[in-house]
Amino acid sequence: MIKTDILIIGAGPTGLFTVFEAGLLKLKCHLIDALPQPGGQCSEIYPKKPIYDIPGFPEILAGDLTKNLLEQGKQFEPGFTLGERAETIEKQDDGSFIVTTNKGTKHQAPVVAIAGGLGSFEPRKPALDNLEIYEDNGLEYFIKDPEVYRNKRVVISGGGDSALDWSIFLADVASEVTLIHRRNEFRGALDSVEKVGELKDLGKINLVTPAEVVELHGNGKIEAVTVNIDGELSQIETDHFIPLFGLSPKLGPIADWGLEIEKNAIKVDNSLNYQTNIPGIFAIGDVNTYPEKLKLILCGFHEATLMCQAAYRIINPGKRYVLKYTTVSGIDGFDGTRKEAPKAVVQSI
Ligand SMILES: Cc1cc2nc3c(=O)[nH]c(=O)nc-3n(C[C@H](O)[C@H](O)[C@H](O)COP(=O)(O)OP(=O)(O)OC[C@H]3O[C@@H](n4cnc5c(N)ncnc54)[C@H](O)[C@@H]3O)c2cc1C
Repeated sequence: MIKTDILIIGAGPTGLFTVFEAGLLKLKCHLIDALPQPGGQCSEIYPKKPIYDIPGFPEILAGDLTKNLLEQGKQFEPGFTLGERAETIEKQDDGSFIVTTNKGTKHQAPVVAIAGGLGSFEPRKPALDNLEIYEDNGLEYFIKDPEVYRNKRVVISGGGDSALDWSIFLADVASEVTLIHRRNEFRGALDSVEKVGELKDLGKINLVTPAEVVELHGNGKIEAVTVNIDGELSQIETDHFIPLFGLSPKLGPIADWGLEIEKNAIKVDNSLNYQTNIPGIFAIGDVNTYPEKLKLILCGFHEATLMCQAAYRIINPGKRYVLKYTTVSGIDGFDGTRKEAPKAVVQSI
């Protein structure tokens, strides 16, 4: 059982910033995310796009914003359960909640902050027979640990940034990388498309277009795929087949937690602290709704900050918190680090 003060469901920008704001109040956070890496939409959909409306950053790449948020929260030592979807929630007699993931990992906290964005991202699966036989037996929809593919033969399918970027990365890790796409054109960052072209010329990526994987083979584990290359069938032997066709967000299991839902989002009390209809469960960032809601990163940051104050009062009943500026109080990390605020100099002249 993983125990923490605030259990955050969703490690997007809102969830990540919560770690920092909670840390200032001496509250510990643990984050669950269905994706294998933190950053939510910023790292999954548009890591290389510049964002222009983060206060204080005239321009910042979404991937860099994620890195900065992780760095900012690091001193408060957040825990992570990644690659697992929060599935069920049970209220305990002491008022705390137990949240269990689809892989059975259990987490307990007095406060739950749902920062689930558009919902948990589910992979778009190819329309092939017997997918379930091969899932996690050579067929993967996410790359969690690239080392799994070291010196292995890999077939990647897809035409977007994920397919391009992973083909480039694995070209130096796997023994053989084949990239299959149903069109000759790719929809991705220009430099990634050019790099794949270079690696093809160097013989480090087998590029097969226009083509589609139409059949999977193997005895309980992927051993080969049949590819339809412009009307002709051919077989490619491989250890792994990784279709990267994008992700579709679904509110998913959270929709069944007894929360008030409106237009696929969780209703909250925005006049107070973003609490849902269930005391102790809050919803912040893109996942919530209230009058005049804006789905923007900076709004998620604001909501996280107010939610943490409410969490503090639940966890420390009767204790008063006096707001202190970080410029005055400095920051005491849970890892023993201290960021000192310069003391005012008293000097007579
Ligand atoms: C192309 C694009 C460009 C954008 N540009 C801007 C911009 O310029 N400025 C701006 O302010 N905003 C922009 N946005 C919107 C911005 O990305 C979102 O407002 C922001 O990501 C919301 O953050 P979040 O943390 O609330 O949710 P998300 O980033 O959606 O993160 C939610 C996380 O929760 C996880 N999750 C959900 N349900 C579960 C579950 N049951 N179990 C485990 N994990 C779960 C998901 O996997 C996801 O990682 C853009 C969005 C897109 C798609």
